[in-house]
Amino acid sequence: MSALPDIRNTGPEALRTHFQEWRQPAYRVEQLLHWLYARRAASWDEMSNLPRALRGQLAAAYALTLPQALRIQGADDTTRKFLWRLTDGSLVESVLIPANPALYGDRSDRHTLCISTQVGCAYGCRFCASGLDGWKRNLQAHEILGQVLAVERWNSERTDGGRIEAPRLINNIVVMGMGEPMANYAQVMDALRTLNAPWGGGIGARKITLSTSGVVPGIRKLAEDPLQFRLAISLHGATDEVRDQIMPVNRKHPLADLTAACRHYVERKGKMITLEYILIAGVNADPAQAVPLATLAQELHAKVNLIPYNRVEGLPWERPAESDCHAFAEALRSRGVTATLRLEKGHDIDAACGQLRLRTERELSLPQV
Ligand code: SAH
Ligand code: SF4
Repeated sequence: MSALPDIRNTGPEALRTHFQEWRQPAYRVEQLLHWLYARRAASWDEMSNLPRALRGQLAAAYALTLPQALRIQGADDTTRKFLWRLTDGSLVESVLIPANPALYGDRSDRHTLCISTQVGCAYGCRFCASGLDGWKRNLQAHEILGQVLAVERWNSERTDGGRIEAPRLINNIVVMGMGEPMANYAQVMDALRTLNAPWGGGIGARKITLSTSGVVPGIRKLAEDPLQFRLAISLHGATDEVRDQIMPVNRKHPLADLTAACRHYVERKGKMITLEYILIAGVNADPAQAVPLATLAQELHAKVNLIPYNRVEGLPWERPAESDCHAFAEALRSRGVTATLRLEKGHDIDAACGQLRLRTERELSLPQV
């Protein structure tokens, strides 16, 4: 990794100070921000309206990098998966999801991007590919927000050769890729603030969702943040017995603590949270388990997002039959809980977090970093 700080880790205030020291007019900072976030620049040479000498000064003081696409899987109108190589050779992934499948006859150009926050994950949930090889390192803010910029750059290059500012492709961000965002809180929040800022990504805070496996201190910290990001909890079990079996984080932050933190968050923010619940055959998909889940959801005024498990090579877990998934959803709805069931096709292209990276590392036998 370059020893220089990446320019996208540097906020406008610090840039203004730096430019003043260099006796550059204030509007140059605006031009630079435009190159960084609207034009998604990958090199100083592209910044044609900045004087060459200034570009040289910038290059001496800052690194300028975007994640490099190593593999792209999928097609238009389907889930598309990007495997990125970072400057130190680490691999992370993002998943681009069309907002409005062609199903409704109305081709939408709005997309959700699912982004990663760490290389690997230390939390070791038993069903998840991201934690299989452990945790390697935290991503820096520019590597987190760079996933959004790199996808948009890829899109503008294929639509207009990258010459013009293609309209925003991504209007929704979910922090549900590899890694536990609450374990890399400061860098994740810096990245999200930049993606939200009018001078940066310009993506509304309500269009940005953070997901956590239940890291209670992070939830409490987020409750104090003035920005209105959304929160999702990867619950996957409504009793300690089930969560203990599949999510080691529950031993540190058991359900009672997690529920209290969620209640605090909801009261403090006046906002609804979402409970994510993967359905795993023989583990948590019995309709009897919908009873404690419904109680919890009602207590927190939360909605429930049911996701049939995506098989991970080498792990023993299976998704339940589709009819069992529907029965579970119905058991929640009959108790007055808002529940959605995503029977997505994403597993065809390894859409679940961590799977593409894992497979690529094994196939290519890339040096482990
Ligand atoms: N670490 C955070 C953010 C990652 S979110 C968290 O766990 O919330 C990734 C989501 O995908 C989580 O809800 C996770 O439980 C889920 N997931 C992981 N492996 C999966 C799989 N094989 N099939 C379906 N969902 C999976
Ligand atoms: Fe980490 Fe989330 Fe996967 Fe658990 S589900 S191992 S916390 S990425």
